[in-house]
Amino acid sequence: MARPPPLLGLTPDALAERLGGPGRARAVFRALAAGADPRAELTPKASLRLAEAATFAPLPIQARAVASDGTTKLLLSVDEGHAVECVLIPERDRTTLCVSSQVGCRRGCRFCLTGTMGLVRSLGAHEIVGQVHAGLAAIAAADGALPPLRNVVLMGMGEPLDNPVAVEAALAILTDHRGFGLAPRHLTVSTVAPSPAAVRRATAWPGHLAWSLHAADDALRSALVPTARFAVAALRDAFAEVCAARGQPLFVELTLLDEVNDGDAHADAAAALLAGFPTEVRFNLLPVNPAPGLPFRPAAPERAAAFQARLIERGFFASLRRPRGQDARAACGQLAILPGAA
Ligand code: SF4
Repeated sequence: MARPPPLLGLTPDALAERLGGPGRARAVFRALAAGADPRAELTPKASLRLAEAATFAPLPIQARAVASDGTTKLLLSVDEGHAVECVLIPERDRTTLCVSSQVGCRRGCRFCLTGTMGLVRSLGAHEIVGQVHAGLAAIAAADGALPPLRNVVLMGMGEPLDNPVAVEAALAILTDHRGFGLAPRHLTVSTVAPSPAAVRRATAWPGHLAWSLHAADDALRSALVPTARFAVAALRDAFAEVCAARGQPLFVELTLLDEVNDGDAHADAAAALLAGFPTEVRFNLLPVNPAPGLPFRPAAPERAAAFQARLIERGFFASLRRPRGQDARAACGQLAILPGAA
């Protein structure tokens, strides 16, 4: 007999159909959304019915690393003997969970450890949702040491728009109020934007879009993101259409590399590129997190602050992110399954 499909990849409607009623599916999702094992919360008969309808396979934790600031990196086993990393970032009264969309990544950004792995494979929807379930379970097990989950960002390993079918399915499960019930405003998909068509494909996706721009100059951007094939102006136009249709701001991420893309001219180029954007633009500036074997140093604090000030002077919102989880190699650009990485 064929194995039933993975529970963590089913929408509430699909599960209701397999279980024979929406009430039965609701009970299961209530447990999943609390990071629990639904089988423990069901009667033996309902548990048997669930086992016939779907396979519950939470992602096992292979390793866990906790940084001095509380940022917690989980190395999770996925199908076919692979592993992915997700990161819990606690802040005051809330936790942000950064999840992966692929094992490795083929975009090859020069400052990113994941990029050095190349693409191993794309994750299924159940493996993306599985990371959220694992994060919720870790928060529940921390007994108050980690605040409740508020935000989910697809900013871990992989390029989400290179895996659109699974990402779209996972977003639907996560944001369905009968599913995990995550508010779309607390969900962000971060992308280098492989092409204008890939960006437009996300028009109807729930949540916010964040564009990993890194440089507004095409030649410099191609040096930093060597797989970039489209001019930033064409990509900007695609984001403009999508954000206007969704009535949402665009988040723009710039990883600041010392003496590479952190000068006044670079800030001015980013401001010029996004002047007149149809919705609000919010810049997130992140001095690069050093990673072994990669040649970049973070922008000096005064240069990063000057970059931020220049964008603000030109009317943009710009925040300078403080690095989180560096000592557990859990920070942006530091995720990779390398020997000793866990
Ligand atoms: S920064 Fe993102 S898109 Fe670029 S290589 Fe790393 S994971 Fe891939």
